[in-house]
Amino acid sequence: MNPKEEALKVLKEADEVANIDVYEYLKEPERVVETYFPARTKNGIEYFKGYRVQYNTALGPAKGGIRFSPTVTKEEVEALALWMVIKNALLGLPFGGGKGGVVVNPKEYEEWELENIARGFVRSIAEFIGEDKDIPAPDVYTNERIMAYMMDEYEKIVRHKAFGVITGKPIILGGNPVRNIATSLGGYYVLNEAVKLKKVENTVAIQGFGNAGQGIAKLLDGQYKIVAVSDSKGGIYCKDGIDIEKLIEVKKKTGSVINYEGCEKITNEQLLELDVGILIPAAIEGVITKQNADKIKAKIILELANGPTTREADKILYEKGVLVLPDVLANAGGVTVSYIEWVGNKRGMPFNEKETKELLKEKMVHAFLDVLEVSNKYNIDMRLASYIIALERVKQAMRYRGLI
Ligand code: GLU
Repeated sequence: MNPKEEALKVLKEADEVANIDVYEYLKEPERVVETYFPARTKNGIEYFKGYRVQYNTALGPAKGGIRFSPTVTKEEVEALALWMVIKNALLGLPFGGGKGGVVVNPKEYEEWELENIARGFVRSIAEFIGEDKDIPAPDVYTNERIMAYMMDEYEKIVRHKAFGVITGKPIILGGNPVRNIATSLGGYYVLNEAVKLKKVENTVAIQGFGNAGQGIAKLLDGQYKIVAVSDSKGGIYCKDGIDIEKLIEVKKKTGSVINYEGCEKITNEQLLELDVGILIPAAIEGVITKQNADKIKAKIILELANGPTTREADKILYEKGVLVLPDVLANAGGVTVSYIEWVGNKRGMPFNEKETKELLKEKMVHAFLDVLEVSNKYNIDMRLASYIIALERVKQAMRYRGLI
């Protein structure tokens, strides 16, 4: 799967269905910063490839995470940045869309080496980021510690404090108490709305047990029966449900969910095809394709990962009556709480847990209802509806700026 082609496919379709006429202006990113930077590691001085894409900034400063992964490519980061444009516009945030990536396998490095890589990457993109320019955040295999190093390095370069340059920071450095579970919590609010529309069995399968996967497992535990979970090493299936607290311990101690005892071992592919009410892809792109879409038995798919479903698969699922809650809506809780963190940093008074959760819930439910209305209006799936809402907003901002 080529993620950029996938992202552009939906963009084009939305553009045509609603006669928006912005495809030509949005088919390429505004700016791509490509770097090759040094960082000291146990191997001496190593060079790493890094990208920061500012896809569109009509609505505000670019905003989106930075991932550390050995499979990062320019096309992938561009697609992820375009998804951020849609996500931020859909949620009504005053941000454009951006994304960053470093080609590195974080599992091969120790904490001090990752610190050097994080600092090295920030030095290589420092002039392009800033609290009113482009605001990074965590993504796959990056976390609050990496964000703290990045902010510190940026502050050293600009020679003043700049809490607002990065979100997803530790609380003591201006972070928000909800940010860690924000993606999952936002998804949880969306799911609660969706099950009001579509009654489903209360069994759940979760692909991916990183930040988002663990977060949603904790939130759903008790209310739903979580029967299957996987990570990059494989998965487990327990008909009678999995003890989530125990599973988190196992993952922490052994590095993988497959070491949880008493369940059947399954592959990541098998997990997707289980007979469950709700399927939650919470790992990587392109896992639901035209090859397996027909075999999916879940009635609701909550996309906590970015880009897990290809457009061709979307169509098959729609025909089958599966309700796909698309990534740009389902996982937008992360960036929404990033926004709340950023506002708190700018005003110099952070939001507390209660305030953040209220704001998050209101924004997620509002976005869900907007998407539902447009999907009913045009008789289309929720992904297309989300793009239509977002593109209309981006277009308006570009118009007023005299860019189109
Ligand atoms: N990386 C997250 C996402 O894909 C969060 C981005 C942010 O908080 O800026 O939405």
